[in-house]
Amino acid sequence: MAEDCVFCGIVTGDIPGRIVKETDHAIAFLDANPLAAGHTLVIPKRHYARLNDVPGDEAAELFGAVHELAATIEDATDADAVSIGINDGEAAGQEVPHTHVHLVPRFEGDGGGPFHAINPQNDQPTDDELDAVADAIRDA
Ligand code: 5GP
Ligand code: ZN
Repeated sequence: MAEDCVFCGIVTGDIPGRIVKETDHAIAFLDANPLAAGHTLVIPKRHYARLNDVPGDEAAELFGAVHELAATIEDATDADAVSIGINDGEAAGQEVPHTHVHLVPRFEGDGGGPFHAINPQNDQPTDDELDAVADAIRDA
């Protein structure tokens, strides 16, 4: 647990949260400032700042909960779809430094965009640049 971490506080019960699912290493609760009713955050119970800090077995449990909740939340909110995402790092918009997966119920015509609405205003990469970055990811 990290002192001054709101999500650790929800895990310990020191901070109130609308918990909707709990497993040995993961817990899910409603977002306090939701993009839609049913906007849920799924977190590892242990404090890890970034996704890459989470050990593989705990990450598997985390994403197991995400997999189950995606369908459950869509049903329970009568939504048409769900947006699922992680702001992994400050430059990606992460504000709470305890890694978390957002699940946001989506509705036809709700006016929200797809992930392609994340537009860093960069020029499109060239084919050579795409070949190089694919090589770099493969080799890493
Ligand atoms: P981030 O920008 O880090 O990806 O998202 C952090 C999310 O945590 C935001 O959607 C915000 O509304 C939510 N949040 C921040 N503080 C609290 C809190 O104390 N309780 C709950 N349930 N959600 C919180
Ligand atoms: Zn924490």
